[in-house]
Amino acid sequence: LDTKFPKIGTTIFTVMSALATEKNAVNLGQGFPDFDCDPKLVACVNDAMTHGLNQYPPMTGVPALREAVADKIESLYQYRYDATSEITITAGATQAILSIILAVVRAGDEVIVLEPCYDSYIPNIDMAGGVAVRVPLTPGTFRPDFDKIAAAITPKTRAIIVNSPHNPSATVWTREEMLTLQELLAPTNIVLISDEVYEHMVYAPLQHLSASSFPGLAERAFIVSSFGKTFHVTGWKIGYVAAPAAYSAEFRKVHQFNVFTVNTPVQHGLAAFLQDPQPYLQLPAFYAAKRDLFRQGLAQTKFELLPSEGSYFQCVRIANLGVPEKDLSEADFCKWLTSEIGVAAIPLSAFYADGFDQRVVRFCYAKKDETLKLALGRLARL
Ligand code: PMP
Ligand code: GLN
Repeated sequence: LDTKFPKIGTTIFTVMSALATEKNAVNLGQGFPDFDCDPKLVACVNDAMTHGLNQYPPMTGVPALREAVADKIESLYQYRYDATSEITITAGATQAILSIILAVVRAGDEVIVLEPCYDSYIPNIDMAGGVAVRVPLTPGTFRPDFDKIAAAITPKTRAIIVNSPHNPSATVWTREEMLTLQELLAPTNIVLISDEVYEHMVYAPLQHLSASSFPGLAERAFIVSSFGKTFHVTGWKIGYVAAPAAYSAEFRKVHQFNVFTVNTPVQHGLAAFLQDPQPYLQLPAFYAAKRDLFRQGLAQTKFELLPSEGSYFQCVRIANLGVPEKDLSEADFCKWLTSEIGVAAIPLSAFYADGFDQRVVRFCYAKKDETLKLALGRLARL
C-alpha cells in the first residue's frame, strides 16, 4: 500500500520499552507506573462486571461517571460543567485529543503547538488535514514565550494546544501565564485544547491551574484528562473531555463514529471510586516523595537536574557526564544508556518535529522506590 503518512513511524515510547525489555533494563522511559492501582478500584470494577453492567453504556458515558467528573472539576476548579451536555467519557486522552482535532480542524487550518510537545499532537493535526504551527517553549526553562505565540497567530489559526503540567519538561504554568494566554486569545476565535492529564500531579507550593477556572479560557476550551494517569491504570485507556455544550456537541459527532462509547464496567467502577476524593488528593504527596528520592539520588551524579514541578517526569542534561557517550545524540545516548547501563530514558528530541537536540533526556519516576534505587545505583556510574 502506498503510505498516506510517510512521516509517521513507531513511537519512541514503544521503541524504548521494547529495547528496555530486550536488554533487561530498568524502564524509566515510557511513562507508566510499575506498581498496581488501589485494590478498591479493582473491586469497584469487578463489582460492576459481576452485577451485569456489561452492555453498551450511553454514547457520552455512564451518567454517574459524568456527574462524578463534573463534581470533581467543580470542587477543585470552581467551575460547574453540565454532566449531560458538557462531559464526555473517552478511551483515554489520546482518543480525546484526536477526536477534538477532527471535530474542530478543517483542511488548511493552523493549529499552534508548543514544542517540545506530546508526540501524538502533530500527527493528529496532519490526519485532520490541518497545519501544525510549531512554536518553541523557551529553550532551557521551557516557559511559554508569548511574543512568539502571538507572532504565530494568523487568520487561519483555529486552535492552540496547551499542556500543563507538561510532558516532557515537567513544568507547570503559573497564574500569570494562564492570564496572559487568556488575554492573548480574548480578541480571537481560537479554540483552546487544554491537555491536563497530569492535573493531579503538581507539587507544593505550586497548584494545578485548570483552564476551566479562567472564564475567558473555559468558554473556548476542551479540557482533557486521563484516569490512567490519576489512578495508576494507564492500560485501562479511559479519560474525559469537558467543554461548553456547543463544543461538546461537535466533539460528540466524531466520538460517536470513532469509538461510539467506552467500556461500561470500568466507567461504573470509576464512578463509585471517585466518590472518595482522597486517592487523587493524596497523589501530589505520593509522587513528591518519589520525585525527591529520585532527585536526591541524581544530585550525586553528573546529570544536571531540571525542575520537576509537576507530572511524573524528570528531565536531565547529559552534557557534563564523565563518559564519552555524553556527546552522542540524545536518541543514541538513550539507546546506549538502556543497553549498556541498564536504564531506559526518552530523548527530548522525540518531542520536536525537527528532532531538535539540546542534550536533555527524560526519566519517569512513577516507579516503586526499589526500582528507582536500582536505577540510581546504575546511573551513579556516570
Ligand atoms: N497527553 C499527554 C501529555 C500524555 O503524557 C499522555 C500519556 N502519555 C496522553 C496525553 C495520553 O493519555 P492516555 O493514556 O489517557 O491516552
Ligand atoms: N504518555 C506516555 C509518555 O509520555 C506514553 C504513552 C504512550 O506510550 N503512548 O511516556
